[in-house]
Amino acid sequence: MLETNLERIKDHIETLNTFNSTPGKGCTRLSFSPEHKKAIDYLTESCKSLGLEVLVDPIGNFRAKLKGREPDLPPVMFGSHIDTVLYGGKFDGAAGVVAALEALTVIKEHKVQPKHSLEMIALVEEEGSSFGGGLVGSKALVGKYTLEDLKKLKNDEGLSFYEAAKRFGLNPDELERYVLRKGDLKALLELHIEQGKILYSKSIPVGVVEAIVGIKQLSLTLEGMANHAGTTPMNMRHDALVGASKIITFIEHCAKEDVFDTTVATVGKIWCFPNVTNVIPGKVTFTVDIRDIKKEGIERVEQLLREKVRQVSEDHGLNYSIDLVGESDSVKLSDKVISAIQNAAEKLGIKYLRMPSGAGHDSALFTEVTDVGMIFVQSIEGISHAPEEDTKYDDLKRGCDVLVNALLDIAQ
Ligand SMILES: [Zn+2]
Repeated sequence: MLETNLERIKDHIETLNTFNSTPGKGCTRLSFSPEHKKAIDYLTESCKSLGLEVLVDPIGNFRAKLKGREPDLPPVMFGSHIDTVLYGGKFDGAAGVVAALEALTVIKEHKVQPKHSLEMIALVEEEGSSFGGGLVGSKALVGKYTLEDLKKLKNDEGLSFYEAAKRFGLNPDELERYVLRKGDLKALLELHIEQGKILYSKSIPVGVVEAIVGIKQLSLTLEGMANHAGTTPMNMRHDALVGASKIITFIEHCAKEDVFDTTVATVGKIWCFPNVTNVIPGKVTFTVDIRDIKKEGIERVEQLLREKVRQVSEDHGLNYSIDLVGESDSVKLSDKVISAIQNAAEKLGIKYLRMPSGAGHDSALFTEVTDVGMIFVQSIEGISHAPEEDTKYDDLKRGCDVLVNALLDIAQ
């Protein structure tokens, strides 16, 4: 079994964290920013010094290849994303990129040449912090986003992803040649921080991801009647916010008690009109985010929610509308890759937990073209997308050890 180097891992993470537009306030590395360029240059230099073939594809994904003994066979790909949210953490995305770089370094050190080629990837714009939507690098790479889509994705200044890529010195018009189809990859592995509290609360360093959750997001509007807070008796009100509060409480109860223990539902955003102290709220809009690895869980919450909305609206004399904002299906990861990851952890004597991912990841997109597996490493207190996000280097190293051995197993 190969072992990765903790000091080197730490060094790479800390160095990437210096390519950061908000030092002292977490890590911010937006796509096509000067920090992104520095990160790509750093990876390029590191990979060239290992003697790897390096390329930055037409939309800004960094890739480095170690040729296998049979270079015509599809490569095993592994990595994660290089961009961050605004004021994010230094491990989200970077952990998987560094794990990939460290895996290639150790493999080179030990002069191992597997049958299949190995290819690391640092994906662009996973977070959607600049151009919205998210998972842009992976969606484009598996053919889900066309050039036209990339022209429509715009940042706050109205600059499109397509145009930004051009200004970054890339040629997005060549995207088609790089699109991955079924058979182009042997497998894809991603190491990522958990971004949740499950591993932390159980004191387990590594998670083996079985499935990535499906997500349904709704926008719900209730309309009652705005009126004077002093002169309208309680029995003559059509208070949209009181209706909303009953529905919000119900959503929590329903996801907790009435569905599966994998089901979660959240109301994270609310607008109240006119939002004035002495006026009864006439209109309220709020979002609902429902997630589960089981489709039935999401369907069940939605069905119970619709019944509740109808009933509350009737009780309070409100009109309502429910709009679909976004939807993605849950995906099951590959049993073959899961067992390679699990075997590696067992042989290394590293404790692991099989678990679902409650967050979306690039990996989910690649399930359409190849066998996919994900390794989670523990996040301290489960915090992510915040400067306080942290992971113990010992735990990250354990994840890296699992990654390098699992991917070699698949590539042999
Ligand atoms: Zn991430």
